[in-house]
Amino acid sequence: MPHVTFIYPCVGRSPGRKYIRSWQMQPLAIGVLYALTPDRWIKAFFDDRLEGIDYDQPTDLVAISIETFTAKRGYQIAREYRRRGVPAVMGGYHATFCPDEVLEHADAVCVGEAEQIWEGILRDAERGEMHGKYTASDSAACYPMTPDRLIFAGKNYFKIALVETSRGCHFHCSFCAITAFHKGKRNHRPVQDVVEEIAGLKEKSIFLVDDNIISDTKRAKTLFAALRSMKKKWVGQASINIAEDSDLLDLLAESGCVGLLIGFESLNADSLAYIGKHVNQKTDYKYALAQLRKRGIAVYGTFLLGLPSDSVRTAEEIVRFATREKIFIAAFNHIVPFPGTPLYAQLETSQRLLYDKWWLSNTYRFGEIPFTPESSLPEQVQGWCHAARQRFFSISSILRRSTDMAANCRSLRKGILFLGLNLLLRREVARKRGLPLGERL
Ligand code: SF4
Repeated sequence: MPHVTFIYPCVGRSPGRKYIRSWQMQPLAIGVLYALTPDRWIKAFFDDRLEGIDYDQPTDLVAISIETFTAKRGYQIAREYRRRGVPAVMGGYHATFCPDEVLEHADAVCVGEAEQIWEGILRDAERGEMHGKYTASDSAACYPMTPDRLIFAGKNYFKIALVETSRGCHFHCSFCAITAFHKGKRNHRPVQDVVEEIAGLKEKSIFLVDDNIISDTKRAKTLFAALRSMKKKWVGQASINIAEDSDLLDLLAESGCVGLLIGFESLNADSLAYIGKHVNQKTDYKYALAQLRKRGIAVYGTFLLGLPSDSVRTAEEIVRFATREKIFIAAFNHIVPFPGTPLYAQLETSQRLLYDKWWLSNTYRFGEIPFTPESSLPEQVQGWCHAARQRFFSISSILRRSTDMAANCRSLRKGILFLGLNLLLRREVARKRGLPLGERL
């Protein structure tokens, strides 16, 4: 019987430092491929973020899922397997955007959604006839499916079950690899299918990983109504226009939602226009946050720095806003030019990229800005991000934000979660800084 080994690579490792705990979630894409692999294949899986890889364990094929930050490490792993005569296939967003680069390191690449082409790749691998690019059809509807969670057994993942109910987002933010990958289209899974998957989960907490769970509000209402009776607590990701629809908000709260990740990106209208995040321009952030708080929904706010009109004052204002508004947790990152996005093309055309391919550079480190911003230096922006994280996760800020009894510390359980997560992310501010991409083998 043929053997296939799945690998989920880490970003990189700093010698002597623990890997980032908040990044150790179940890799759903691998669980789905595992489910799609016919029984005649013997399957193995190594999650590089949690464990060592046994390169000498016999296998006939290695399948590696990569994104831009893990591409270099993925290539290193593929090299080790290929040195032992094992062919490698790679997929994921990065593989779709840079298939020719991937083929310099692998025998085959999945372009697009792997569900459509995985069984064909396995058939070719069995015959020893794997050939370069396997491209999924753009027009075929490919909605998420239930992963085989057996693959995650025995691994020490963050204690939350991930479920995908839809893919894609209809907005066109210029920095967003998701909308570039899905070309602005959305694919929804039948609601009954989602309900059945959730009903079978033993975990009490669920992360609905949809890129924008309210991208289609009509479908979101149907989903939330179906989740109401399940009595599960869940968190998800949504665009800020959710605040405009009070029926949707009520259903969201009734469905068991306790927290949402929302991309605020900037407080400045010109900056929002620059990145094409027009949906945020129309929404009053304070109003939106009040609507969510009123319904007990905590917010994970994400902010971007390094936009043309940003200065040190911008960063300070953002942290003041996030602290004053008692945001549950927040991320303050520089804008990242991912290959395949309009932002990347724009920076490339204006010759402001500092590397040919920053994700492959031996000198680039996680958290460094790989382009020259219009009105600041890369080091300045990195400093603003770091200072913003330090201030937001300072003890005084955590204490201040803990006084929000409507959402952050609504119950003892939520209060413990608030404290635990904030202290974890506080520790990780230093741990993420200077993380290399890839690893010395
Ligand atoms: S709203 Fe979010 S998911 Fe949608 S395109 Fe913008 S950044 Fe991407």
